[in-house]
Amino acid sequence: MYRNFKIVPNIIFGRGCFNQLGDILQPRRTSVDSTMVFVLDDVFKGKPLEGRLPVEGKDIILHVNVDDEPKTQYIDQLVAQIQKTMPVKPSGIIGIGGGATMDIAKAISLLLNNPGSAADYQGWDLIKNPAVYHAAVPTLSGTGAEISRTTVLTGPEKKLGINSDYTLYDQIVLDPELIAGVPKEQWFYTGMDCYIHDIESLEGTYLNEFSKAYGEKSLELCRQVFLEDHPEKDDKLMMASYFGGMSIAYSQVGACHALSYGLAFVLGTHHGIGCSITFDYLEDVYPEGVREFRRMMEKHDITLPRNLTKDLTPEQMDTMANVALGLVPLWENCFGKDWQDIMTKERVLELYRKM
Ligand code: NAD
Ligand code: ZN
Repeated sequence: MYRNFKIVPNIIFGRGCFNQLGDILQPRRTSVDSTMVFVLDDVFKGKPLEGRLPVEGKDIILHVNVDDEPKTQYIDQLVAQIQKTMPVKPSGIIGIGGGATMDIAKAISLLLNNPGSAADYQGWDLIKNPAVYHAAVPTLSGTGAEISRTTVLTGPEKKLGINSDYTLYDQIVLDPELIAGVPKEQWFYTGMDCYIHDIESLEGTYLNEFSKAYGEKSLELCRQVFLEDHPEKDDKLMMASYFGGMSIAYSQVGACHALSYGLAFVLGTHHGIGCSITFDYLEDVYPEGVREFRRMMEKHDITLPRNLTKDLTPEQMDTMANVALGLVPLWENCFGKDWQDIMTKERVLELYRKM
């Protein structure tokens, strides 16, 4: 069975295109009661970007904190806050920030039209009603969250996305000027998330010409960004993120992402840095990719944290291995149908012990 997948229908790209956000939202303001909710990463609180938001009438700016990756309880709380403070359901939810903020805005737009808790919808195609109109403005590039059909959330029982066609953004605003101020390490780790998407897609058994076309272009752009000093590196990274997301949308990620989910679940390690940590131990699986990744680290003077797992109990190590091994499609993409013969629990534990 081939997947008939939906993509983001409206995309605007270019330096300064953020200035058109007001015009883009205007047709959604269909009555005097229409309001927008700007879900803004709180790193921009009081910063010039906040002042540039096209706020009108009773619109609200909802500052969100992403020190921890988004949790389902946090989504429930934000949805309740919107419902309490806004008498009429908002006409649009606009997420402005990195992958975490974009995921929060997606989840809010879904939960405003679907009853219950965000945790009820973690899984595949459990959402029944279309979301409120939602748009994203990335301020950090690499995750591909702007183009994906998921919002990754940590719930009481699991870290799993709300995967559905309704999750996809209605509009994305790709303005490379907005990613210029990201601190170097964060820029690098989130960028490596994209690089790793490309390697895992291109080296995987699920590869097809669709994913290959996007993955190869994304990889080429990543090389220009991280191995050359290119004057248009922000534009390139923004497109690399989009293409990397498109590549995995029709294939899958692999061993590195599976292992990073285990780290995230037990230690709360954030996605970009977690993928970078695990990728560095996967030379046997992705030899060329890991060598090139190390050249990129060296060029940008990045030192990865080490000894993360040294104080973990055997039970915690066991949980970590089980979370990683539970991600069957990722392993199958990486090693094929017989992956269990190749990636045994002992081998996973051995890899984690080294980290
Ligand atoms: P992030 O959104 O967690 O942000 C990282 C840090 O950068 C935060 O402190 C944030 O405040 C700051 N930041 C963002 N933009 C900035 C800017 N322009 N200037 C200065 N600081 C800025 O980081 P991320 O790596 O983009 O996203 C990771 C999250 O994305 C995780 O929660 C992960 O689960 C999720 N994710 C989602 C998908 C998806 O398809 N939905 C894919 C991969 C990862
Ligand atoms: Zn990723």
